Amino acid sequence: MLNRQTTGSVVCPSCGRLVGVQVERCPHCGRSNPGLWGYTRFFQSLGDDFGFVRLIIGACVVLYVLTLLVNPSGIGMGSLFSMLSPSMEGLFLFGASGAVPVFGYDRWWTVLSASWLHGGLIHILFNMLWVRQLAPATSRIFGAGRMVIIYLVAGAAGFLLSSFAGAYLGFLPSFLRGANLTIGASAAIFGLLGSLVLYGRRGGSSAVGQQAWMWAIFLGVFGFIMPGIDNFAHLGGFVGGYAAAHWLDPRRPERVEHLMAAVIGLGLSLLAVLFSVLRGFALLG
Ligand SMILES: [Zn+2]
Repeated sequence: MLNRQTTGSVVCPSCGRLVGVQVERCPHCGRSNPGLWGYTRFFQSLGDDFGFVRLIIGACVVLYVLTLLVNPSGIGMGSLFSMLSPSMEGLFLFGASGAVPVFGYDRWWTVLSASWLHGGLIHILFNMLWVRQLAPATSRIFGAGRMVIIYLVAGAAGFLLSSFAGAYLGFLPSFLRGANLTIGASAAIFGLLGSLVLYGRRGGSSAVGQQAWMWAIFLGVFGFIMPGIDNFAHLGGFVGGYAAAHWLDPRRPERVEHLMAAVIGLGLSLLAVLFSVLRGFALLG
């Protein structure tokens, strides 16, 4: 499967038409390097998302197990929604975001790490189902690399807004407050929804845009009904995803630079988790 293809043609990853594997630019849509150095078929065998969805879900599951194992005596078993929840210390250690880590401990890089952590079995299950539902669809529209960029930008925007609100808007009623400690993929998920709404408004399928609006409103309202949901992270994620999608422009084809930026971004956010753990251990002594 990893054999490099040097002759013949491949299906352009941006427009789906046949192009020579060696051409610099797709003659149909203008995408540069549609042959992906001869590895287009390998990437396409991974699916529309180039395997990024499996990577995101896999990393979230592994980190969820690690945050449980790092402090087994602190695992919560209370209500349905806090079933098998990692301890606060475990989540802080691995890079939870929010007003306390960001403004209290100067752990600003946690805006990148927090999307990978979850607060319980139901939390991770719900979020991963939404990732599986939305990320492949977003990849088909924007390309796999730009889906990842939207996902990462939205997560960071959500946690930045929530941490800021947690630190400076504490006078608001509790359901409108930011978070002291916050985690989860839902800010990034709201970002995918925001990008699909933008796609609908930018001349893409209006059915997709309307469906994304419906889901965002449904999940947004759900967040105000359920206690303990970080509504600022949802709002920041939606706006961040919408803005990133606006900037990336779904009417233009994905470029190979987007794919590189996606890989670098994923690497940086997993490094943020590692850095959180190293600095956290030093802090906790
Ligand atoms: Zn093309």
